[in-house]
This record gives sequence, structure tokens and C-alpha cells, in this order.
Amino acid sequence: QMVNFTKFFDQIIDRFEIGKGDHFIFERAYSQRERFVMIDKDKITQVLDNIISNALKYSPEGGKIRFELVQKENNLYVRVTDDGVGIPKQDLAKVFDRFYRVDKARSRKMGGTGLGLAIAKEMVEIHGGQIWAESEEGKGTTITFTLPLEKEREEDFS
Ligand code: ATP
Ligand code: MG
Repeated sequence: QMVNFTKFFDQIIDRFEIGKGDHFIFERAYSQRERFVMIDKDKITQVLDNIISNALKYSPEGGKIRFELVQKENNLYVRVTDDGVGIPKQDLAKVFDRFYRVDKARSRKMGGTGLGLAIAKEMVEIHGGQIWAESEEGKGTTITFTLPLEKEREEDFS
């Protein structure tokens, strides 16, 4: 359905912010203007839940998580950046494969199956978007996905 992504994003971040205690710093780097997209809320919730849980899981205590919304042409860019352990260059594309996990031993301790990002990719592509990872080992990771923006509704002056 038609969703104001700004409000939807805020509510998801709020839910994580309540649970995080003092362990992380959240930074919302976007304005409160409305941004409309046609999405299945449950599916995109699943995408964001995984991306944000990953950011928390692979970051140290006191880490900062930055949330961004950027509009470019007819797409909305949704971006989550952490300053955690990062992903080695040769693994960047593979993290979207089913069951792929960087450093099996360390990842196993963290819990999870390695399916989260594979599902996220599938869900984003169903919506006509794309998803990718950028990272520097030891510095942090940015996950970006896009969603087609709905045309702003024309003002009706009649
Ligand atoms: P699941 O999501 O199924 O619980 P998972 O988190 O291990 O398990 P994915 O979310 O698919 O699986 O991520 C795949 C792998 O990519 C992770 O195991 C981890 O090695 C790496 N990864 C994902 N996000 C990050 C991140 N923000 N920082 C560092 N590594 C990451
Ligand atoms: Mg995950």
C-alpha cells in the first residue's frame, strides 16, 4: 500500500531505539518531509529489521548507527551505516547469497543463519529496487537499498 516512508522508517528505528539502552548511538540524518512509496509493509519491515540487527550485531559497544533517506530522480535511497567490524572487499557481493557468512567461527557465536540479507535482496527486488553493501574492514559498513518513489500527488485547487 501507499506509505509515507519517513514515518514508517521512524517507527522502525524507534522500536530499536527503545531496546538498545545506552549501548549504541542512533543518528537520524533526514528531514521529516513526506516520502511516498508503494510497499508491502511487512516485507520491508523484515528487510529493515535484518539490516539494523546486523548493524548492531557487528558493532562494538558505543557504536554509532546512522540512518539516511535520500531522494534521487524517482528513487528513494535508504541507507544504514555502522562503524563496526566491516566486511572484507572479496565478501561484499557474497553477503547477499543464501547462508553466506563472513568468518564462520565468529559469526556462529553471534547467532543467525546467514539468510537475512538474501531474503532482504529478494524482498527489495520484488519492490523494483536494488540493494548493495559498501564497507571498509575495521571501519564500518553501509547498506543501501532503493525503492521507486510515487509521484507527489498533484495539488487540487478546484
Ligand atoms: P541472519 O540474518 O540469518 O540471522 P546473519 O546476520 O549472519 O544471519 P545476513 O544478515 O545474511 O546473515 O548477513 C550475512 C553476513 O554478512 C553476516 O554473517 C556477516 O558476516 C556479514 N554482515 C552483514 N551485515 C554486516 C554488518 N553491518 N557489518 C559487518 N558484517 C556484516
Ligand atoms: Mg542478519
